[in-house]
Amino acid sequence: MKIVINGIHANLRFASAHMIPGHEFCGGIHGHSYHVDVVVEGERSGQFGFVVDFKIVKSMVRKLCKKLDHKVLLPAESEQIIFKNMKGPLEFSIGPKNYVLPKEDCYLLPITSTSAEELSRFFAEHVYQDLEKLGSNIESVEICVNEGIGQGAYYTFKP
Ligand SMILES: [Zn+2]
Repeated sequence: MKIVINGIHANLRFASAHMIPGHEFCGGIHGHSYHVDVVVEGERSGQFGFVVDFKIVKSMVRKLCKKLDHKVLLPAESEQIIFKNMKGPLEFSIGPKNYVLPKEDCYLLPITSTSAEELSRFFAEHVYQDLEKLGSNIESVEICVNEGIGQGAYYTFKP
């Protein structure tokens, strides 16, 4: 059975800046008001016959959203971003463009791009790992990171 959480209604949101290096329109720093939809599939279990308590999933996802909220999201594993200084202010370049940003304003993610696709993968893996610690009845976690209303990317993490 599946449970579904709608990110807008459940307030699973974050507002962040990012860039997609090399992309004609998305190459410059710009922002999105993201929201995160969640689907968890698994066997029903326990006293209440839940797949998992909605409250637990929402708090896990919200914790991740909070980390990214009001930050410049940077993909630490990008092949296009050359990081020059990771201590103190973050210095990096993308092609001919040089950036220096306060470290506390940025959040480095262990992904190759801050596209909706990669952000979904990041969320799905994390939420699955967190849920796995609580029990073994979860089969998959599906996440849709939406870059505003009407466009998002789904990723399903299934071990
Ligand atoms: Zn964007």
